[in-house]
Amino acid sequence: MQHQSTLANKSSWIGNAISKIEADYQRSADTHLIFLELPGFPDIDFYFKDESTHPSGSLKHRLARSLFLYAICNGWVHEGTTVVEASSGSTAVSEAYFAKLLGLPFVAVMPKSTSPDKIQAIEFYGGSCYFVDHPAEVYEVSRRIAQESDGHFMDQFTYAERATDWRGNNNIAESIFRQMKYENHPVPKWIVTGAGTGGTSATLGRYVRYEQHATQICVVDPENSVFYEFWKNNDPELCSEHGSRVEGIGRPRVEPSFVRTVVDHMIRVPDAGSFAAMLTLTSLLNKRVGGSTGTNFWGVLELAKQMKANGESGSIVTLICDSGERYMNTYYNPEWLEENGFSEDVASQQAMI
Ligand SMILES: *Cc1c(COP(=O)(O)O)cnc(C)c1O
Repeated sequence: MQHQSTLANKSSWIGNAISKIEADYQRSADTHLIFLELPGFPDIDFYFKDESTHPSGSLKHRLARSLFLYAICNGWVHEGTTVVEASSGSTAVSEAYFAKLLGLPFVAVMPKSTSPDKIQAIEFYGGSCYFVDHPAEVYEVSRRIAQESDGHFMDQFTYAERATDWRGNNNIAESIFRQMKYENHPVPKWIVTGAGTGGTSATLGRYVRYEQHATQICVVDPENSVFYEFWKNNDPELCSEHGSRVEGIGRPRVEPSFVRTVVDHMIRVPDAGSFAAMLTLTSLLNKRVGGSTGTNFWGVLELAKQMKANGESGSIVTLICDSGERYMNTYYNPEWLEENGFSEDVASQQAMI
């Protein structure tokens, strides 16, 4: 998208801010779609959209860009506004990147379990971090900090689904379908994604309907998340005692951005299964992937087994949400797995994949 700057908006802070975000977009390349064959599934082609290659390291780069543009165009963020976000980490890293680009103060409110590597990345971009004991506290604390600093609570969990242009504008769905164009099965049977805000599944689901593709959307959900129950029973009051242990996905409450009616299928994935699949995929791609990418791959394998049993052929697409380098102290650390009681289960799950 090209913005024709007029003299009037160029001289204003808002015009400058939008131009800077658009210039950042111009400097960026699209993310790769990596092809993988698996010997057990000769009739199925697997694809991984590598969102770890964005400048701020995850699929949240897209979301942060959209949220900033939305907030600026709504008149919610202007010169000097302190931007506050409730985040389990990745969104805060990407928003800190854009806040720095625009010269705005940024505060991330996160569960204290957030990985040290993400905290380091937020601070690298000049953001500050505020920690809460329970993941469910992030919303209220963010709102309070924004109020006290006369700032703006970005609120990804409310606005993710509406800040993204779902019909196109090179969103993740349009990019996937363009990159699949010359493949054997250009229209995937399934696209598999996790849900944190639910923004990615909302964009994918709306886009495939709008473009009338036969693709189905499958959302994978970790332990301690309410999304699966909500998708089944449509109870918006669901709450879970504990936070998700797979960073980036699974929520203790039903988030407004999770649009259940565009999701065709959901799979519950045990946490040990996510970490096992993460390790397996890392060796298959020779590339360290994050925990939520493991959850995705677990779901992909479930669907592939079903397709094989039904004698179907076709393609399955999923995302590499972020890189494993962010989790060297946690999921990739045998001591962390042991301390959190995962060691045996991860080993036995890995043997089954
Ligand atoms: C946010 C996030 C997801 C899920 O994406 P949503 O669009 O928020 O549902 C998956 N993995 C990681 C690492 C994330 O940060």
